[in-house]
Amino acid sequence: MIATEPAMTDAGRDFIRDIIQADIEQKRCAGVVTRFPPEPNGYLHIGHAKSICLNFGVAAEFGGRCHLRFDDTNPTREEQEFIDAIKRDLRWLGFDWGEHLYHASDYFEQLYTWAEHLIRAGNAYVDDTPPEEMRAQRGTLTEPGRNSPYRTRSVAENLDLFARMRAGEFPNGARVLRAKIDMAAGNMNLRDPVLYRIMHAEHPRTGTAWSIYPTYDFAHGQSDAIEGITHSICTLEFEDHRPLYDWLLDHLPVPSRPRQYEFARLNIGYTVLSKRVLTELVRQGHVNGWDDPRMPTLAGLRRRGVPPAAVREFIRRVGVARAYSIVDMAMFEHTIREELNRTAPRRMAVLRPLKLVIENYPEGQTETLEAINHPDDPAAGTRPITFGRELYVEREDFMEDPPKKFYRLSPGREVRLRYGYFVTCQSVVKDEAGEVTELRCTYDPASRGGNSPDGRKVQATLHWVAAADARPAEIRLYNHLFIRPDPGADGDVMADLNPESQEILRGCLAEPTLAAEPAGEPVQFERQGYFCADPDSTPDALVFNRTVGLRDTWAKMQAGGGRG
Ligand code: ATP
Ligand code: MG
Repeated sequence: MIATEPAMTDAGRDFIRDIIQADIEQKRCAGVVTRFPPEPNGYLHIGHAKSICLNFGVAAEFGGRCHLRFDDTNPTREEQEFIDAIKRDLRWLGFDWGEHLYHASDYFEQLYTWAEHLIRAGNAYVDDTPPEEMRAQRGTLTEPGRNSPYRTRSVAENLDLFARMRAGEFPNGARVLRAKIDMAAGNMNLRDPVLYRIMHAEHPRTGTAWSIYPTYDFAHGQSDAIEGITHSICTLEFEDHRPLYDWLLDHLPVPSRPRQYEFARLNIGYTVLSKRVLTELVRQGHVNGWDDPRMPTLAGLRRRGVPPAAVREFIRRVGVARAYSIVDMAMFEHTIREELNRTAPRRMAVLRPLKLVIENYPEGQTETLEAINHPDDPAAGTRPITFGRELYVEREDFMEDPPKKFYRLSPGREVRLRYGYFVTCQSVVKDEAGEVTELRCTYDPASRGGNSPDGRKVQATLHWVAAADARPAEIRLYNHLFIRPDPGADGDVMADLNPESQEILRGCLAEPTLAAEPAGEPVQFERQGYFCADPDSTPDALVFNRTVGLRDTWAKMQAGGGRG
């Protein structure tokens, strides 16, 4: 089932901001310190952008600061490549952590000391129970767990074993350190949760110094306390961890007392926002890497041409709440379109070219016309474009035998060529298979600049390029990565991949100005949509990605008062 997407309201205020406001007014905190705590085991996706905009956003609004903290407690999954990518993508999105870059691994020594503190107070013990047995002892939601036989170990023995775990005396999985809380607790997270596991693995930052690593639960709240985080904002799946978060802070001599607050994660239809699944897409080669333009990663969105301002605005419109929802992909695309409509310069490119020859235009002659760069922004100026006897238009802008409401080119029909002239199709040339390969036209020299010479109207204005200087280009069109709004709802997420998520058009033609377009800079191809040059693009072999088409299904849905 798909919940309705939140209304696109002005979301300046939300429950998190209300809590912070009240905390400040009632002097429960002196200032606001938040953090964004990614685990460097993958690239950031647009779901993370929600957390980033919230954490960095409230810090800025309340005059506080936001830390970037790598939650690097599992060396078997974490890589330097991901650390670098996360920093790059955060900066791209427009956020800056200044000098406040931290790593959970910076605190390993302190965390170890605090683990000993728990042991000394009788609040933690070393457990030798094999993992399967430990799982069986945990009980279920309806049945209490059973105490481990190692739960009553002496403080001295626990301290000794824990030190030897650290020293690397035992193999992976042989022992763990657990908090001693309550095996009958209704909240499973309080049934003696694991605090440390043995892992003989090289860490990107601490190398082989450690043979034991703290769990998320033991690292997170204590790292918050060390950094003086006031509001530890996370997604709802951590709500059940909050009692443990509080228990640990209450039982340790921490320097500050942060509070955890949870909000609903971002979900978007027709895509997945789970690092686990995104990792599989990359590993299994369903996409061309983490920055494939079909990926919902920030790196993918950037490569596709989505401006960071559109991502921030989309997140603002989605708002922050605790209710589960799936946001419509059309709403994201609408926001991208709004931003690009304002900022992207207009250009002309023909995706599926059809040759057009103007029979009454002198052979060998060309002329220079003036094209407008942005219809709403005179300051964007104009650019010269070449016109000549041989042009290319879009194949779908011609029909030999058109239905009634087709107003574009057909035999005998006159249309306007954008910034150019009025042309009339006189005849067609066909190949042996009967396919139209060329349109033979005439033009009206009095219509220069696309102006009607005598007030006569044409029904259509077409984009075009000149054979004399058009550049060949490859244009990559993208569709939803998955064929259903709720990928994986039937169990196998990979079975829901859209086999037509990418369409590569070769033999496209672009006006020559496009050869100078730097990768990632958005442009509008008139009548086609928004595009940007791909990093694969070279001056001799242009490659463009379609960011979004022009058709706005979201605006239509809103205007229709319902969902299309
Ligand atoms: P996974 O995607 O596998 O569930 P993760 O995204 O939780 O992993 P982290 O690196 O721990 O991985 O995430 C960093 C922060 O981003 C966390 O605070 C997490 O709550 C938040 N976050 C992750 N996904 C979303 C989402 N879809 N919407 C909002 N916040 C998210
Ligand atoms: Mg996580």
